[in-house]
Amino acid sequence: MTAPFGAPPSGAKAHYDYLIVGAGFAGSILAERLASQTGARILLIDRRPHIGGNAYDELNADGILYHKYGPHIFHTNSDQVVDYLSQFTEWRPYEHRVLAVVRGQQVPIPINRTTLNALFGLDLKTDDDAADYLASRAEPVDDIQTSEDVVVNAVGRELYELFFQGYTRKQWGLDPSELDKSVTARIPTRTNTDDRYFTDTFQAMPRDGYTAMFKRMLDNPLIEVRTGVDYRDIREQVDADHLVYSGPIDEYFDFRFGKLPYRSLKFDHQTLDEVSHQPVGTVNYPAPDVPYTRISEYKHLTGQDAPVTTITYEYPSAEGDPYYPIPRAENQALFKRYEALADATPGVTFVGRLATYRYYNMDQIVGQALATFRRMQEKAETAVEAA
Ligand code: FAD
Ligand code: UDP
Repeated sequence: MTAPFGAPPSGAKAHYDYLIVGAGFAGSILAERLASQTGARILLIDRRPHIGGNAYDELNADGILYHKYGPHIFHTNSDQVVDYLSQFTEWRPYEHRVLAVVRGQQVPIPINRTTLNALFGLDLKTDDDAADYLASRAEPVDDIQTSEDVVVNAVGRELYELFFQGYTRKQWGLDPSELDKSVTARIPTRTNTDDRYFTDTFQAMPRDGYTAMFKRMLDNPLIEVRTGVDYRDIREQVDADHLVYSGPIDEYFDFRFGKLPYRSLKFDHQTLDEVSHQPVGTVNYPAPDVPYTRISEYKHLTGQDAPVTTITYEYPSAEGDPYYPIPRAENQALFKRYEALADATPGVTFVGRLATYRYYNMDQIVGQALATFRRMQEKAETAVEAA
């Protein structure tokens, strides 16, 4: 039998203002805001043996800083998000670049003018040249609904098949025609030679890594952090006024309406006895006969100087930790049923990628968590005024 959390010697339960489930961006930011801005006493738990959620990084046995759950590259257009996180970290400027292996060549993805020239032996010199070329290949779709429509409409079927169809089928276990347009719409098509993966105004990595940033965020005597603890095992033992939940929403409600689909990945981390393995941070492998989707090399992201290098292969999987909500109409409809339950559950706040079933990047989760905190504060103020 597990002892009550934070139990004083008498055996009486410790009292918390908030129990927060999940120590990723969503849970950790709520813990930090509630403790630092309202003086609340927090118990923050995570079932994994560490804080940081999917953004967790650590030094491996060879001294290389790697990301346990695959490469996490920070980028945002939000000053608010940058200002908030900058309280807890310095930054190392980093612009991510990705090459895709297609027809035996490594070419830039997002598709740009360089990609077209390399792949088709062309000499497109200007943006207009590339735009005309793409227009000649594009197959306009009147009503763009799916992830296939987005790409075929922009670049035509051949480039769609070479860069997107195989990759997407592997990554999601679904054809792009079965996925919402928002998935492949994450990847633009360019007529210039900009080969950066993102064009956000702010692109940088936390200088000492994500875990160090989370440690500073949670360094407050009002926040008690317990890792390796599953909410399902302790929910009866904790005395807390309010719950903030950032785990999977369907699990919270004991899968009452059935399981919400999530896509998982297996990560194969390898340290190689070479200084550098590949020319850029990530190389994508869209071909259907290659079982993984991409290989990432951390030294590009971190700027670490070392005689060896660590890379990660990503193998998509139906089984395993829930990493990606799967954007398609029927899943959204199921989520909405859980969301209605959540709205009707007093005393619990649902926040984060799994609890709100949204394919969000880190900066979007930071924005969502800060907005959630503001809403909680407003609600508390209204309650005080009403009393
Ligand atoms: P999470 O980080 O998933 O945290 C939720 C936490 O809750 C987990 O640690 C989990 O263990 C815990 N939990 C769940 N249930 C329970 C329970 N019952 N009891 C206790 N604890 C529980 N975003 C970017 O901006 N750039 C990128 O390059 C990028 N790359 C990514 C690559 C991969 C492979 C993946 C999967 C995601 C990537 N993301 C990236 C997205 C990013 O990981 C998320 O936006 C962010 O981590 C979400 O934070 P969160 O707090 O909502 O969820
Ligand atoms: N995608 C693709 N080929 C690529 C890169 C991306 O088909 O070379 C599609 C694929 O469906 C992928 C989606 O675009 O899941 C979004 O890509 P992103 O790199 O943003 O995925 P994430 O980093 O979130 O896994």
